[in-house]
Amino acid sequence: MTIVEQNTPDAVPAETVPAYRLTGITKTYTQKGRVVQALKGVDVEIDAGDFVTIQGPTGGGKSTLLQLLGALDKPTEGHLMIGDTDLAQGSSADLERVRAREIGFVFQAFNLIPTLTAAENVDMGLEPLGLPRAERDVRVTDALERVGLAERADHRPGELSGGQQQRVAIARAIAKRPRVLLADEPTGNLDESMRDDILAVLEELNAEGLTLIVVTHDSAVAHRARRRLRLDKGTIRDITR
Ligand code: ADP
Ligand code: MG
Repeated sequence: MTIVEQNTPDAVPAETVPAYRLTGITKTYTQKGRVVQALKGVDVEIDAGDFVTIQGPTGGGKSTLLQLLGALDKPTEGHLMIGDTDLAQGSSADLERVRAREIGFVFQAFNLIPTLTAAENVDMGLEPLGLPRAERDVRVTDALERVGLAERADHRPGELSGGQQQRVAIARAIAKRPRVLLADEPTGNLDESMRDDILAVLEELNAEGLTLIVVTHDSAVAHRARRRLRLDKGTIRDITR
């Protein structure tokens, strides 16, 4: 029998490492000479494994923040740490690597490719990882099982309900086995029962350790979160209570 020493000083439990640490994040857009300050000095830390929602009025900066967290864009100023990487300082190759490996994205409009089957759509999410075919197949099957759609692998989006399409999109996002799942209004196009269905899937993934950050207008979604943030005119506030 091998005794493994668990309490070495560098064996930091995963849950004590923040998923994100943002300091002084600003984002300014300039379009046709007009300057919009979408984020005005956001300081926030998000714990690994947390379930956080972001609420707030249209134009408040929610999608902008999610794009920065998702390494789709860079802040104008500040530091945006994901693990040990500062996305504000990273090269575009750094951002691409983080995006490919660490982050899953889910959108309100599902963004599935209509001509591809559910399995093929999920497989698309694995493209940037360069995995061997056999490993890709395992991950596709596994991800569809996790969202309860193993039997629908060969169906195209048009043959699935809205809730099922969003579950395919979640499977696509988690197939890469990311640390963080970012969702922008994931239930915005769904009726109440489908919304509950999606929430149940998301909560199950969160219970398994996935960090969940969800932008939502739906207070029913926000009330399921462990932590609630509000973004208004580019300023963030914790409204968890
Ligand atoms: P929310 O998602 O909360 O509705 P956004 O992050 O989409 O807010 O937008 C915040 C502000 O930034 C708005 O004033 C919006 O018009 C502006 N904005 C967002 N994206 C761009 C862009 N690509 N170019 C110029 N302005 C933008
Ligand atoms: Mg938005």
